[in-house]
Amino acid sequence: EYKGMSKERMVEIRQQNCNPMTMKVTYYKKPVFIHQGHMQWLWDVDGRRYLDLFAGVATVSVGHCHPKVTEATQRQLKRLCHTTNIYVHPPLHEYVEKLASYFPDPLKVIYLTNSGSEANDLAMLMARLHTGNFDIITFRGSYHGGTQQTMGLTSNSPYKYPVATTSGCTHAMSPDVFRGPWGGSHCRDSPVQTIRECSCAQGHCTANDLYIGQLRETFATSVPSRIAGLFAEPIQGMGGAVQYPRDYLKEAYQLVRERGGLCIADEVQTGFGRTGSHFWGFQGHDVIPDMVTMAKGIGNGFPMGAVVTTPAIAASFGKAVHFNTFGGSPLACAVSSSVLDTIQEDGTQQNSLKVGTYLMKQLADLRDQYEIIGDVRGKGLQIGVEMVKDKASRDPLPPEAMSEIFEHIKDMGVLIGKGGVYGQTFRIQPPMCITEEDVDFFLAVFNKAVQSYTDRK
Ligand code: PMP
Repeated sequence: EYKGMSKERMVEIRQQNCNPMTMKVTYYKKPVFIHQGHMQWLWDVDGRRYLDLFAGVATVSVGHCHPKVTEATQRQLKRLCHTTNIYVHPPLHEYVEKLASYFPDPLKVIYLTNSGSEANDLAMLMARLHTGNFDIITFRGSYHGGTQQTMGLTSNSPYKYPVATTSGCTHAMSPDVFRGPWGGSHCRDSPVQTIRECSCAQGHCTANDLYIGQLRETFATSVPSRIAGLFAEPIQGMGGAVQYPRDYLKEAYQLVRERGGLCIADEVQTGFGRTGSHFWGFQGHDVIPDMVTMAKGIGNGFPMGAVVTTPAIAASFGKAVHFNTFGGSPLACAVSSSVLDTIQEDGTQQNSLKVGTYLMKQLADLRDQYEIIGDVRGKGLQIGVEMVKDKASRDPLPPEAMSEIFEHIKDMGVLIGKGGVYGQTFRIQPPMCITEEDVDFFLAVFNKAVQSYTDRK
């Protein structure tokens, strides 16, 4: 039973003493005051239980307070909490050896950080040092961080301040097969396809050619002939689970490499088995990046991030000392190591594939029933449901309507997320331990929320 601070006092403190803007983006008109978690469940201070289908933006990977991770954390906490550097400690070495085994050659050199922004910041620096070039390409709608450097990579305006961020970042057209002008729906890697057809000719995605044409045009018009790199999420997260045509990333990587650039996969949301079919999102695109950045799910809620790269790139980074007091501390490594073990022992990735596919197929049935459900997409447990005014226009469902449905879903006991550059996409990225029973519960709730909104209009 919760006996702590009152809700009213927490709101006051949040507004006065704690990053007040986050109250505005803390999602709900009536905030949720969470107090405790276990696996896919959260409890609020009044003891009300919620099914958590957002996991703090895919942050909790194997389950809230997973017993195995909690035990490993406690064990290390009692033994040693210290800095990463200066001395040699076993948890770091055990962890990096383990994490490296999840990557194909030559991705074997690991730098540990405390967050995704820090990891991307580091990857930017490495790409520029290694190539001797400056310009970086990302896609519109992407989110790669909120520090002053990584804000330049991010292309999602609510998160961008009007200050000088790093220069040399160009945002190319997002090859979004639903909202983009050419479709490409049949060619994305998802168990469900859009209702919007593309102009594919016998196994060849012509929409892909057009999106790639836009990338070529970006190179021709906006960046010097030599570039430092491309940052891309395998499936956009904050952008609203945006997926690209199947061959897009492969062709884009080739164009970037022809211009001397490195290819960086931002796996902050898609890594650690979330996409179900593969451990890393990039593997679903049949590419091998030069760098992979990760955070969030790596520590199941504990702060941790990483850049994984090649020995050649690491060698270019040897001109000065890269020091990070807590990145890869004994505690962070012990926690993250037990997360990797748990993913194996619990069959987390397999569950992601099974339950995620089941959920997406049921959601696609709802999409066919409702005029305002425009698109259902994703892979594994990285899922987006894009809401529209109507299927013909595909205009985004306005924010007030989104928040009405969103609030209703929460009031019925389920937490999901929102994203997309117009805030038009519901996001489902739960702890990967959810079951088909949970999915059935959510579907009933979602159906009811959409139905009652539709009835009122
Ligand atoms: N990359 C992606 C894809 C993200 O979603 C985020 C966070 N939303 C980041 C990077 C930044 O991570 P952090 O908040 O840990 O700095």
